[in-house]
Amino acid sequence: MNDNPSFEINDRWIVSSRGKKNSVDPSRPYAWLVEKERTSSGKIEDMATVFLTNRECPYHCLMCDLWKNTTDNTVPAGAIAGQIEWALSQLPETRHIKLYNSGSFFDGRAIPVEEHARIASLLSHFDTVIVESHPRLINDKCLQFRDMLKPALHIAMGLETVHPGIIRKLNKRMTLEDFEHTVQFLNRHQIMSRAFILLRPPFLSEAEGICWAERSIDFAFGAGVECCTIIPVRAGNGAMDLLRGTGHFEPPDIVSLERVLEYGIGLRRGRVFADTWDIGLFSSCDKCLTQRTQRLTEMNLSQEIIGPVVCGCEHR
Ligand code: SF4
Ligand SMILES: [Zn+2]
Repeated sequence: MNDNPSFEINDRWIVSSRGKKNSVDPSRPYAWLVEKERTSSGKIEDMATVFLTNRECPYHCLMCDLWKNTTDNTVPAGAIAGQIEWALSQLPETRHIKLYNSGSFFDGRAIPVEEHARIASLLSHFDTVIVESHPRLINDKCLQFRDMLKPALHIAMGLETVHPGIIRKLNKRMTLEDFEHTVQFLNRHQIMSRAFILLRPPFLSEAEGICWAERSIDFAFGAGVECCTIIPVRAGNGAMDLLRGTGHFEPPDIVSLERVLEYGIGLRRGRVFADTWDIGLFSSCDKCLTQRTQRLTEMNLSQEIIGPVVCGCEHR
């Protein structure tokens, strides 16, 4: 696949390619749910996820569509803790919770530091709290938040890809050393980390997408993460649609996601999950989509490689 677009990929181009944001309410999370997850203890347990509404992430990664449910400005004082309190009143009781904020929990303009103490007190009955952050925003503030929490803190971070040319083009403004040093910092402070890894970012063929996702899993575990989540890349944020139109991007196939998940689980170096959100986008075969989705879900939960789905679509 051609990896040299005739235009420069930078913040300006990425932002100018966007459509409109969704309308969001700063007093409410924009989504919340409970799903099963194999937790770090090896048990399959309920995991709540609250998608907080807050100020847009200051980074503008090429593939990111999380800006759609964000605000332009910092939300009013107390709004984030209020959203969590409200979500907890709606959700069934669970022992584990993810607070995902379409950016970085440790970005003070998204989640004001003044709210950390109240957030920690609202979460005191959980065993585990997972937040997400750009690796470069992790520092001693994160340890201070960890010290306020009764539950264990885990942090999810986008490694994206270890392909040296593509990581630059993604506009992530992070080096592999940044990621590695951050994981080591967290490990020194007994904070578990998980890596988000992209399957087939732009400019890669299907086979290259698989290969680089596998190399990225190797790197993430080598750096010391406890868990990897593989995310198939999709269009829909403007920039990715333009790249698709110029032949620089095609979404991966669900079969590739199965292959990378098998690879990751087979390593036995930690938990590996496939993100099955909107999974129908990655299949053009109605005959096997349900079975493949079930297979991915079962492998996510069991962390075992289960028998393949056999369908003629793989040989077309
Ligand atoms: S750092 Fe994360 S949330 Fe921010 S733009 Fe990049 S992918 Fe999106
Ligand atoms: Zn099929």
